[in-house]
Amino acid sequence: MCGIVGYIGKRKAYPVLINGLKRLEYRGYDSAGVALLNDDNELNVYKTKGKVSDLEAYTEDKDVSGTVGIAHTRWATHGEPNTANAHPHISSSGNLAIIHNGIIENYATLKRRLMEKGVEFKSNTDTEVLIQLIEYIQSTKNLDLLTAVRMALHTVIGAYAIAVIDKRNPDQIIAARKSSPLVVGIGEDEFFLGSDASPIIEYTKKVIYLDDKDIAIIHRGEEVKVVDFYNEEMKHDVTEVALDLAQIEKGGYPHFMLKEIFEQPDCLMDCMSGRVNVEANNVVLSAVIDHREQLVNARRFIIVACGTSWHAAQIGKQLLEDICKVPCEVEYASEFRYRNPVINNTDVVIAISQSGETADTLAAVELAKEKGAFIYGICNAIGSSIPRATHTGSYIHVGPEIGVASTKAFTGQVTVLTMLALALGKERGTIDEQKYKDLIKELYDIPEKMKELLKQCDAIRDISQIFTYARNFLYLGRGYNYPVALEGALKLKEISYIHAEGYPAAEMKHGPIALIDEEMPVVVIATKNVLYEKVLSNIQEIKARRARVIALVNEGDETIKRMADMVIELPHTMECLEPLLATIPLQLLAYFIAVCKGKDVDQPRNLAKSVTVE
Ligand code: GLU
Repeated sequence: MCGIVGYIGKRKAYPVLINGLKRLEYRGYDSAGVALLNDDNELNVYKTKGKVSDLEAYTEDKDVSGTVGIAHTRWATHGEPNTANAHPHISSSGNLAIIHNGIIENYATLKRRLMEKGVEFKSNTDTEVLIQLIEYIQSTKNLDLLTAVRMALHTVIGAYAIAVIDKRNPDQIIAARKSSPLVVGIGEDEFFLGSDASPIIEYTKKVIYLDDKDIAIIHRGEEVKVVDFYNEEMKHDVTEVALDLAQIEKGGYPHFMLKEIFEQPDCLMDCMSGRVNVEANNVVLSAVIDHREQLVNARRFIIVACGTSWHAAQIGKQLLEDICKVPCEVEYASEFRYRNPVINNTDVVIAISQSGETADTLAAVELAKEKGAFIYGICNAIGSSIPRATHTGSYIHVGPEIGVASTKAFTGQVTVLTMLALALGKERGTIDEQKYKDLIKELYDIPEKMKELLKQCDAIRDISQIFTYARNFLYLGRGYNYPVALEGALKLKEISYIHAEGYPAAEMKHGPIALIDEEMPVVVIATKNVLYEKVLSNIQEIKARRARVIALVNEGDETIKRMADMVIELPHTMECLEPLLATIPLQLLAYFIAVCKGKDVDQPRNLAKSVTVE
């Protein structure tokens, strides 16, 4: 969840580390810290509760010299977010410093044992236990740091990406990972370390993505060496990162979230590029070509995901059942992984995760793989853990998503699911030729229609300003738009902290209607499809209880205009593609309400972008 950065080389480490932390701040941000080895080999550790800017202010009058260092933004799991619990943590002797992303599950037992041996602790974190354990092993057995780290990692249970420095050996950083991402950047006589490539790419495009149970020995003036926990050398290719700086900067927008909402038309073009071909009337996914047998003959799909990806999965279920006529179940990865699900080798498990690092989804993938299913990943972050753990998959190719509340990744996921359903439906012969062609054409036109829709941005901002008073919101939709209602409600919750519920419109009368009064705005997705008349009745029921209705309607819908308090018009499209359009105004609505309420939309409280812990 947190962000890890490291540097060793010829530059001053501090600016590289701070810059890197800012790029990673989206991953977690309740406290930040840095450890530097200065030219006299003194270890300076500075940390503070709050953001990276608070750390900068704190270090203003401090010695931040040195060409080796490690730094961290924390998303607390063990111990409250305060300065003492912030990383880096140092060992009792003051020789070692560590940063850690993840959880040491058996920390309590280890801590008790260490305390029995007289080790004293300054924080409540699991991380400090690890560095004390490393030091204990190192000092009692008189071992070098690498061996002590290896031995300690044999003892700990959990998920981690760590970096350790030792002031007695100032030319080296030892880094290791298990179930949390870690990337080493290789420059000219310098090395970088990051939770992902974003803190590295302005210095070098050459990286090594570490695998699980890898330990990297990063030594000044030497090549990076990677070993496993048994000290066996592991060979790794150096890869080029295809990411440029403009992609991870705000580009004139006040927030990443707004930038990412507006990027969606281009992102979807990128996502479809080389895959959707209108002239040739086909959809080509390399995964479907390479693994045709397994995918076409699937007897059941199970989609595992969390959060926004789970909402995309709900749309995927309808697409796969509609177009491919294969039963599809959607599961929360966190539940699936612990409930001993029945899985057959004719099942295809689809794992959806923006970061490709979501711990629960990754665990669900491993479980399904063990049980013999064929696994297909839908991720954004290239080279991340889930794509590496799956048999095949399709990247959504929407570029880095920095705003914590997911926007473009959601529409990218829905687009990939649509392409997958089309490609498989065609292979299985379950979609008629005309519908296939129409859908391809319509899908291809979605980015243009999104651009039209985004022109209503100002009108949606005006609507938002009216609703900042609300303490509760209800979002209703049916069919393909029911998951859109869920996603709209989630966006609002995440960034404005207003309680919101998404419901299938017909379910309203089975409970939520009891909540409706003039204080509770209701957002209704009421496009002209087979369920239109039913949704009209729902709007009547809401109006009869004096709530204000914001309706998403098709262009030219005069009937609902007369009934609803406000309408947002959506361009026409085919029903199964409506979510790609209807989601956009709901993203904007949540965004503007949060901005009007003065909330930090890119870094909402308690949330982190990449949920690498359970
Ligand atoms: N478990 C560690 C802590 O609570 C690290 C959390 C993180 O990944 O930021 O300090």
